[in-house]
Amino acid sequence: MASEANPTIDLQTLRSRLNQLNQMQLNSNRNQQNLALESVSPYFLHPRESLGTTLIAIELEHNNYQVWERAMWRALREKNKIMFINGLLRRPTQEDPLFDAWERCNTFVVSSINHSLSLNIAKSVLWINTVEELWRELKQRYCQGDMCKIAALEEEMFASKQGELSVTDYYTQLKTIWEELENFCPVPNCSRCIDMCTCELSIMRNYREESQVVRFLRGLSDQFATVRSQIMLMKPIPKLESVFASVLQQKNS
Ligand SMILES: [Zn+2]
Repeated sequence: MASEANPTIDLQTLRSRLNQLNQMQLNSNRNQQNLALESVSPYFLHPRESLGTTLIAIELEHNNYQVWERAMWRALREKNKIMFINGLLRRPTQEDPLFDAWERCNTFVVSSINHSLSLNIAKSVLWINTVEELWRELKQRYCQGDMCKIAALEEEMFASKQGELSVTDYYTQLKTIWEELENFCPVPNCSRCIDMCTCELSIMRNYREESQVVRFLRGLSDQFATVRSQIMLMKPIPKLESVFASVLQQKNS
């Protein structure tokens, strides 16, 4: 089993390896390139940012990859380091003036990821030195076996009806299922568009949101038949939150 690789590494070795990485970071900080001081550069590291910084509150275990991946991805995007995980920023040659900066950032991200893994998982990936490889390895190992869970959530979603529930409780119930589904099969994060996503991924997100609106409307009790058919005829279909607000308003009128 891949997750049991290097079973002989103990906590002591793990700590000393992390300290070693810390030292590499400190040394390379002394040689910072001017470019790396540009905060817009993916090579920028804030002087206060050191190895051992915990970026997210969640720890990767064997069964929470999706949730962990989303949180880590967001944290790294905030740090402008996505190009290290998707491999767009390849290691420059040793003669390249950016070589040190690349090494420093790579080490920072590897360390941040290591600090967010459970001890067993951390031990098993301790010898992976590049972000891209580490990210791919974790994905290969833990992003699987979720098809049953997804199918169960979808069945639960399609079976959801308002029934005896209040509109708010019914809406909350659906939202919970959608959030879980989103963790298991998210629309991929867009790494191309700047600020607002306007590519094909935004079309996929719209499709998903529209189908949620339709699902919500179809499960409502018959007392909402009128508002339901009014909304279904609208083009484009309004946002989920405003549909929910309209239904609540109808209930109270
Ligand atoms: Zn986009």
